[in-house]
Amino acid sequence: MDTRIEAYMKQIPVLAEAAAGKEVFWVNGRECPESRQGEKAVSKEQIQDAARRLERFAPYLAEVFPETAACNGIIESELREIKAMRQELNQEWGAGIAGRLFLKMDSHLPISGSVKARGGIYEVLKHAEELAFKAGLLTEQEDYRKLNTSEMREFFGRYKVQVGSTGNLGLSIGIMSAKLGFQVTVHMSADAKQWKKDLLRSKGVTVIEYESDYCAAVEEGRKSSDRDPMSYFVDDENSVNLFLGYAVAGERLKRQLEEQGIQVDRRHPLFVYLPCGIGGAPGGVAYGLKEIYGDCVHCFFMEPTQACCMLVGMATGEHDKVSVRDFGISGKTDADGLAVGRPSAFVGKVIEKRLAGICTIEDRKLYELMRALLKTEDIFIEPSACASFAAFLHADEMDGYIRQKNLSDCMGQAVHIAWATGGSMVPPETAAEYLNIGTQSVRL
Ligand SMILES: *Cc1c(COP(=O)(O)O)cnc(C)c1O
Repeated sequence: MDTRIEAYMKQIPVLAEAAAGKEVFWVNGRECPESRQGEKAVSKEQIQDAARRLERFAPYLAEVFPETAACNGIIESELREIKAMRQELNQEWGAGIAGRLFLKMDSHLPISGSVKARGGIYEVLKHAEELAFKAGLLTEQEDYRKLNTSEMREFFGRYKVQVGSTGNLGLSIGIMSAKLGFQVTVHMSADAKQWKKDLLRSKGVTVIEYESDYCAAVEEGRKSSDRDPMSYFVDDENSVNLFLGYAVAGERLKRQLEEQGIQVDRRHPLFVYLPCGIGGAPGGVAYGLKEIYGDCVHCFFMEPTQACCMLVGMATGEHDKVSVRDFGISGKTDADGLAVGRPSAFVGKVIEKRLAGICTIEDRKLYELMRALLKTEDIFIEPSACASFAAFLHADEMDGYIRQKNLSDCMGQAVHIAWATGGSMVPPETAAEYLNIGTQSVRL
């Protein structure tokens, strides 16, 4: 271990604990009030522009993905109160949750069954729109159902889309690109599950598998795309478009909270818990929420103990200049959606002053929480998504944060949202295997 890393571990005790494989709760000392957050990486107008683009595509999506027709082609998930899970967390896990607990069910988003159906699909649509505009084949005023013609699919068929992925991003990009008619190649890291590769291949997507980790798959994808002028690379590490697609969730959540008559203000704080891999999805969602609720929303990222890349990036302030391996942390986790060893520097810098904190969780607890949610609410979500409950296992540290923010007396009227990032596409056999892991029949 180099001296730079050793120095960090001495200065920042949480990093030494994380390096020892322990669960940690890190409060972000750089978080500051909205008035002092400084320059914006993306503007409100850019987020609104993204929302409008998704609206333009909605009639097309409703037509080609019938499961989105009920919502008129708007890809959105339910916000459901989970009272029985709240009780379970309080009774069995000592969570001490005051206020109400909700599940944001991106696990059940149409088309690709994960949070990646926000950013991933948005980026493909934006690229397709740009190409069609440039070629004079589409205007903003036209009915986008025009894209569902063999002529348009042939046009897109001359172009290629590529992406590196641990699985879910590949599913979103692959399914959407193939539907439009693009040639599409997904570069999958070793963590990616077999069923995701099979599903993509069944849709005509080229899947290239790597023995190596996520960052290496991204690098290979990028190289392959750079060699081909007709190819577009979806860059999970730096993409503003992905980020904007996720950020649209802020405005949508606001509408859902209002529909349910839920107030958010200084005395009715909102706490949001987001599972984090490279940071794009939770970063975009958190950013979108901060744009709307400012200091009244508190966003926490959740990571596996063995893949806490955003923690090491943020706590050191070095972002992508450090990886979990530098700290002797393996990068290996069953939470495949979160199996990332080096965070996005773009996201890290954008949310540095907005993020409340980061908390980590051991894999075996993800399975226990998965079973608890199924038992109490009859909802299945994948292991990665169960990280959204991690903060509830750190009641004391959470209380410290609440006291620091002078919120103790209004927690009874707080709203907590666990952002369930994936799960509905997991095949039943795989779900059954997950549900046995860590029980008497299958030891972890
Ligand atoms: C990708 C993913 C995340 C995290 O998104 P990042 O952009 O990698 O941080 C969380 N949960 C699931 C299920 C995912 O697929």
